[in-house]
Amino acid sequence: MRDDTARWLHFDKTHCWHPFTRQAEWCAPESEPVVITHGEGVWLHDSEGRRYIDGNSSIWTNIHGHNHPELNAAISAQLGKISHSSFLGFTHPLAAELAEKLAALFPAGSLERVFFSDDGSTAIECALKMSLQAQRQSGAPERTHFIAFHDAYHGDTLGASSLGGVARFQTRAHGFPAIHLSATEDLASVDAGNVAAVIIEPLIQGVNEMRPWPPGMLRTLREWCSANGVHLILDEVMTGFGRTGRMFACQHEDVIPDFLCLAKGLTGGYLPLAATLTTEQIYSTFLGEAEKAFYYGHSYTANPLGCAAALASLELFARENTLENLQPKIRQLIERLTEMKSRHPVIHDIRQCGFVAGIELRQPDGGRFPREARTGEAVCREAAKHGLLTRPILDTIVLMPPLGITPEELDFAISALGAAISSTIG
Ligand SMILES: *Cc1c(COP(=O)(O)O)cnc(C)c1O
Repeated sequence: MRDDTARWLHFDKTHCWHPFTRQAEWCAPESEPVVITHGEGVWLHDSEGRRYIDGNSSIWTNIHGHNHPELNAAISAQLGKISHSSFLGFTHPLAAELAEKLAALFPAGSLERVFFSDDGSTAIECALKMSLQAQRQSGAPERTHFIAFHDAYHGDTLGASSLGGVARFQTRAHGFPAIHLSATEDLASVDAGNVAAVIIEPLIQGVNEMRPWPPGMLRTLREWCSANGVHLILDEVMTGFGRTGRMFACQHEDVIPDFLCLAKGLTGGYLPLAATLTTEQIYSTFLGEAEKAFYYGHSYTANPLGCAAALASLELFARENTLENLQPKIRQLIERLTEMKSRHPVIHDIRQCGFVAGIELRQPDGGRFPREARTGEAVCREAAKHGLLTRPILDTIVLMPPLGITPEELDFAISALGAAISSTIG
């Protein structure tokens, strides 16, 4: 191990505390976490001089690749002006332009109002608080409940995590009770009159081992919400910005929600910035007396560097035809993974939605691997040796590289995963 790597790992193990991490294992002497020092396109470079394909887009954020000259230039240009100014009491050019551009991605007159925050969880918190307050200010104060789906993931702040349904993240009961459903059929059993909003990850649940919803489900949900005076909140934190093959997942079913939450890919995966979009109709319930205002915000709301990156990312979508160029890569991903499944009896299921894939590993007889074997983790550790970095969700390996990956790089990533599966479990 190089001296620098040893020093950084020593400091990290002495002082850092990582998310979702068993720290005792992380800090053990034999543990050698990868120290990522720089990136170039879809490649991540580490402090030992090795490089890897970024197989999960740096936890589902990166869109056009790392160190992209145009994203860098846009951020640098803003850096030469100002890095941060307050959005409380003032505005700035890039936030105004970004809000206009985000609204323009949806049909005119639908989602016209943009509230900025910092990350996916805060985008969700905004939608929840706005929904409750909008219901109250429209004469429905009894609408205080939220409906979410089993195994959902909406972030880790107290409000967002209250709606999450992933059992292993719910070991301690915190937050407020939510009504959890499995499918739209369960709506029949709900007392809709008490419900403020339904929240869902449209098209596919990410953290729930990449599980797509049945087609048409989103449309059904929209109709039920409209018929019952309930807001529909779409959490497009993961699906937004091209992941599903369209700019937004809701476009696959022509659904316009009452609230749309965006984060991860908003800045191309460069800086933390989030947005909660809503309708003029909901916005209008906040007009009037002082107490009707939305008393909510964060210090870094609408950070200008983040806005610069987001505007540059949207420009790249247009100029590089990102979505058009993605379509053959989506087909390549399905074809190559299907072919790989036919050769590996341990690949139980390939779940895929656009450029997001979950490869579920099981024993050849269809039984799950014992949880304590941590097979998914072992396969990902092996994949790193073959030049692919990604993370599993239990025994489902996530493959969702940046949209800007080349067909050759995509082939490399899939082959690396195949090799890792072979050498780990045959
Ligand atoms: C990642 C994620 C979030 C939380 O976003 P953070 O930026 O990590 O707070 C919320 N919802 C979904 C669907 C996500 O994938």
